[in-house]
Amino acid sequence: MKQLVKYQHNQVANICELVATNKDVFQNGTIEESSFSLLGVKIWNGRMERAVDWLIDRALYRKSSVIGFVNANNLNIAYQDCELRRHYNRVCDRVFADGSGVRLGAAIKGVNVVENVNGTDMLPLLCSHACQSGVSIFLLGAKPGTAAQAAKNLLVRFPQLKIAGTHHGYLNDELSCKRAIKRINEAKPDILLVAMGTPLQEKWLTQNLAKIECPVKMSVGGLFDFFAENVSRAPLWMRGIGCEWVWRIIQEPSRMWRRYILGNPLFLSRVCYELIKGGGDETNSQLEQTQSKSKSQSKAQNNLLSLNLKAFLFLKRGIDIFASLMLLALFTPLFLLVAVAIKLDSKGGLLYSQDRIGRGGKKFKFWKFRSMSDDADASLVTIEKDNESAGNVLFKIKSDPRITRVGKFIRRFSIDELPQLWNVLKGDMSLVGPRPCLPRELAKYQLSDRVRLAIKPGITCFWQVGGRSELSFSQQIQLDKKYIQERSILTDFKILLLTIPAVLSGKGAY
Ligand code: UDP
Repeated sequence: MKQLVKYQHNQVANICELVATNKDVFQNGTIEESSFSLLGVKIWNGRMERAVDWLIDRALYRKSSVIGFVNANNLNIAYQDCELRRHYNRVCDRVFADGSGVRLGAAIKGVNVVENVNGTDMLPLLCSHACQSGVSIFLLGAKPGTAAQAAKNLLVRFPQLKIAGTHHGYLNDELSCKRAIKRINEAKPDILLVAMGTPLQEKWLTQNLAKIECPVKMSVGGLFDFFAENVSRAPLWMRGIGCEWVWRIIQEPSRMWRRYILGNPLFLSRVCYELIKGGGDETNSQLEQTQSKSKSQSKAQNNLLSLNLKAFLFLKRGIDIFASLMLLALFTPLFLLVAVAIKLDSKGGLLYSQDRIGRGGKKFKFWKFRSMSDDADASLVTIEKDNESAGNVLFKIKSDPRITRVGKFIRRFSIDELPQLWNVLKGDMSLVGPRPCLPRELAKYQLSDRVRLAIKPGITCFWQVGGRSELSFSQQIQLDKKYIQERSILTDFKILLLTIPAVLSGKGAY
């Protein structure tokens, strides 16, 4: 009891310190936890110190808890094994982000992992807090003798540590499993560390949860091998640059090459696929339906939405830069031909620029190949009365007398729009987005039409592939609104693909 009071005192001090330094603390003193989802697994995102405090707290108050660690390898296994995914999402109370693979995967999704919370770094801290609070630990797992050796080594470093017991992890039949559980229950530990490797340890925990009389149960992989000194840890500098996995390959090449050399790229490509698909949070939404923590739930949902949006925008910008660079290089010969044709066909410049309205109403210089006579802007007033565009906001006439011969051809195949790849590269525009309007068109917009200014304009969008100038202004606005609601990387890809036949057919292009 004395230990509990002392520990609680330290906890209050910790919370006070956090209130002073951390924005994530609510006024009532409870701590808001953040989490993110990777390959369908919900992962806690926080500091090691806070994770250990939470574990000790759970042990002291005997709150039944299951804890897991996920690295790129575990997530690869869970990707294909729904039973393991279920363990992490439904059985575990917290899953910690272990290693640089998870950090990189999270970064691809726009999430910053606060700290690498791995079992090997956690155990000494956990032991030190366990000594202070009187919490006892049982080590179950690894080959016979390894858990006992790890316990011995830990006692050298933490002489006050209460090791409730040890047992090997080769529980291949029912009898050995029963015996191990009996040993655990007789030892009455506060924390049980299960080190049998993934997915065995997680599945063993799920199956035997009801029989184990210990509040905190944590699956820790090959942890005991490190602390028994059967396997050495990577030098600090190697850990510092996130390359501990290289060390593990050097030590056990036959077992580890597949896990890391094949597994790491596979993991990253799965994360990219998840991002493009716009998913990965299905498991969260299922979980959120079953857990009725409504207030924190909607907050978490908002966080996820904003994380998803950030990740989408990050990836969209990356695709814009890459694709515009590639297309500019690819079209260079065509640009040269068009340049010569424009120059030979009519008097005037090669390119035509206009002020257009970008995201948030910001003006930018919009580029096209010149397709009209040099005095096109000045002569607009004389033909304005002939406007054929429904809604009278846009100006379009099929046989605009200002269009040159080359202009007719390049407009027919939308070649005149290709210089906007430069606008895309600069970041004024995206490949996909509502067409940027002219300042004079904006002046005629109703308030609700301005919604299309909420996002970056683009070269192509829904209405470019579904009728173009043949659609009325209000139909175009409706399609832009649809894009704003439905936008995702997949939608962008679909629109880009549909743009190719739309351009080749020339429907509505004039
Ligand atoms: N292990 C065990 N019981 C088994 C199979 C494996 O206790 O039936 C132990 C093995 O001795 C080793 C650990 O589980 O200590 C697996 O380590 P690994 O590095 O593969 O685990 P990871 O941390 O990658 O999940």
